[in-house]
Amino acid sequence: MNNVSDSAVLSQFAYSEAAHRALGRAPALFIDGAWVASTHGLTIPVIDPSSGKSVGAVVDASEADVDRAVAAARRAFDDGRWTQLPPAARERMIQKLADLIEENCDELAELEAIDNGKPKAVAAANDIQLSIGILREMAGWSTKLGGELIEPSMLPRGTFHSYVRREPIGVAAQIVPWNFPLFMAAAKIAPALAAGCTVVLKPAEQTSLTALRLADLIAEAGFPAGVVNVITGHGHSCGDRLVKHPDVDKVAFTGSTEVGKTINRHATDTLKRVTLELGGKSPVVIFPDVDVQAASSGAAGAIFFNAGQVCIAGSRLYAHRSIFDKIIEGIVDAAAAWQPRASLDPSAQMGPLVSDEQFHRVMGYIEAGKKAGATVAVGGDAPASDGGFYINPTVLVDVAPDMSVVREEIFGPVLVAQRFDNLDEVAREANDSEYGLGASVWTRDIATMHQMAAKIRAGTVWGNCHAMIDPVLPFGGYKQSGLGREMGRAGVEVYTELKTVIISL
Ligand code: NDP
Repeated sequence: MNNVSDSAVLSQFAYSEAAHRALGRAPALFIDGAWVASTHGLTIPVIDPSSGKSVGAVVDASEADVDRAVAAARRAFDDGRWTQLPPAARERMIQKLADLIEENCDELAELEAIDNGKPKAVAAANDIQLSIGILREMAGWSTKLGGELIEPSMLPRGTFHSYVRREPIGVAAQIVPWNFPLFMAAAKIAPALAAGCTVVLKPAEQTSLTALRLADLIAEAGFPAGVVNVITGHGHSCGDRLVKHPDVDKVAFTGSTEVGKTINRHATDTLKRVTLELGGKSPVVIFPDVDVQAASSGAAGAIFFNAGQVCIAGSRLYAHRSIFDKIIEGIVDAAAAWQPRASLDPSAQMGPLVSDEQFHRVMGYIEAGKKAGATVAVGGDAPASDGGFYINPTVLVDVAPDMSVVREEIFGPVLVAQRFDNLDEVAREANDSEYGLGASVWTRDIATMHQMAAKIRAGTVWGNCHAMIDPVLPFGGYKQSGLGREMGRAGVEVYTELKTVIISL
């Protein structure tokens, strides 16, 4: 694919000593508070997407490894070493973990850049800060998840005492994807720990480095052994084992809708509690009264941030017919700032895609779009490089609602753009998707904004911005974008069971 030329994207940026140390560690799993070798010694290479080169290895956990991790989490839950701690002590420990992430921000951002391909500066400013934010927000819930006193309604007052306890579910298996590795891990463990659950965390095979460093920090923060266990490996083997394990009480998953459905089916046999954060095809709807430059640059950021590898990426653009051409021109201009560069290049705003597989998947979608009749307004190709998985920011016009590029989650820097004439029409088109994760509406008209917010069937609607998330606000999907919510109060309550107590006095 990539012929190196004078203008090629080059990956010649040196790793720090800390990164070399992390990459040079013997592959190991974090089980029961200790680093242990796998039972079968298999590993998965760590590939730097900026160069395409193998730079390390992590364990490919065996089923026996998964069983050890689940057993450790089970013991840690059942003997009460975490659940029975004073909630304020749990809160302090989660806060301590957030402090340690803050102290190690630079190293964690670099590891994320090496492992995932996102620019280091973006990881430091976005991923690491969100990881700290979710841990701090959830730490506070440790002391605030009270029960409720409810008097029976059909019995004389004072004859019965009844109340509802909120209790931790138990052992949580948490399976996360590769697009925001540390943040996904933090967003999973934080509410589980606040609720009093114990955890087995499985990062994605492509991006395990920061989850492994997180395990170091968990040990340093003083969490009791077995409360958090981190196992690396493939989804079809160790992920599947976790989902089916009889000693796991709850599964929390972020990733593709296809795998989410499989996990939901497999968790049904033991009726595990399941939360799923799945795919999206989020619409960006631009009405004619906007500041065209601001809206174009917002739409460009909505799709090109993280090279489009974002579940809430604004991947379907609907611009009013009267301003469509100007908006496309604005996005094409803005795309210049999103030219891909190596993740350790300080000038990078967008890096390579995470893997060769993802590169080919996204290029396949672009080719399918062209073949179906779409026109490339910008991009549509890969820049020359010395081996990385780069794709230029791409905008496709002349697309039709039934094309795969319009209907399916591409998970790359690829925007499909369509025109609309009125509010009802665009609300219908925005909702014409099996997904319902997010949507943004761009207008200065307050009535249009609120009408659209009510009509759109998605877990989050943004006004004049896109993909803003905050640890206090619930996040999740309508339709096939997921089950349940993460973050905010709703995000911690999904790690609890309600127990009703009724006592005859
Ligand atoms: P997956 O959904 O396959 O992976 C997400 C996580 O699930 C990984 O940790 C993976 O492990 C694990 N997993 C995979 N299969 C199973 C299984 N049967 N049981 C338990 N765990 C499993 O995403 P991909 O990496 O394959 O990406 C494919 C597409 O998914 C992307 O192109 C994108 O469209 C979408 N995606 C969406 C995300 C989102 O946030 N909405 C995030 C990531 C991907 P492992 O990596 O080891 O296989």
